[in-house]
Amino acid sequence: MKQNFAIIGLGRFGGSLCETLIESGQEVLAIDKDEDRINEYMNIATHAVVANAQDEMTLRSLGLRNFEHVIVAIGEDIQASILVTLMAKEMGVAKVTAKAQNSYHAKVLYKIGADNVVHPERDMGVKVAHNLVSKNILDYLELSDEYSLAEIKVTNPKFTNKNLLQLNFRQRFGLNIVGIRRNKQLIISPLAEELVEKGDCLLVIGADEDVERLDDKMS
Ligand code: ATP
Repeated sequence: MKQNFAIIGLGRFGGSLCETLIESGQEVLAIDKDEDRINEYMNIATHAVVANAQDEMTLRSLGLRNFEHVIVAIGEDIQASILVTLMAKEMGVAKVTAKAQNSYHAKVLYKIGADNVVHPERDMGVKVAHNLVSKNILDYLELSDEYSLAEIKVTNPKFTNKNLLQLNFRQRFGLNIVGIRRNKQLIISPLAEELVEKGDCLLVIGADEDVERLDDKMS
C-alpha cells in the first residue's frame, strides 16, 4: 500500500532510506537544511525542500502533520533531533521514527513520544556480530533487549522433511516460526503441515537465548 513519508535529514541514513522508499513506490518529502544535499535528492524524492526543521512555522507550512510517517534522521545535532521529534508528535503525526546517536538519546526520544527509535550503527554491529559467530544465522533484528527476529538456515538434516507440527519449535525452543524463505519464495505464517526442506531459511521470533539454542542445534 502506498504511504507518504517525510524524511528530515538526508545524511547516509536518511538518504538511503529515501532512495529505498522511492524504489518501493512510496511518496517521500525530503527535508534538509543543506542545499547541496537537497540538490542531490531533487530528482530522487517526490519533493525535496531546503528548510531548517527546527522552525515550527516551516514544518507547519510544509504540512508535516498530514504525513503518515515522519522519520527524523538528524544525527549529530541531538538537540535538533529531540526538538523536531517533539514538534512532529505535538502536530499529531501518527508515526514518528527517530534516529538515535546513543542510548541516552534513544531514551529521551522514546520519552517525548517517538514511536520507534533506530540506532543504525549499533544495530548493524549486532547483526554483523551474529553473522560472524554463526554460519546459520543469516539475518538478525533486535526487537527488544530480550527478543529478536532471526533468519536461520536449515542445515541439519534432523530438521528436514518434517512438518512444523512434527518439529514443534514452539514447545521445544519457545520459538514462533513466522515465515519460511525457500529460494526466492517467502511463505508468510506457514501452516502446521508445511514441510521444512533442506536449504530453507526459517524466520523465527523469540527470546535471544532460544534463538541461540536453535542455532546451536543446527550446527
Ligand atoms: P548519517 O550517519 O546518516 O550520515 P549523521 O549522523 O552524520 O548522519 P548529520 O550529518 O549530523 O547526521 O545529519 C544528517 C542530515 O541532517 C544532514 O544532511 C544535515 O544537514 C541534516 N540536518 C541537521 N540538522 C537539521 C535541521 N535542523 N533541519 C534540517 N536538516 C538538518
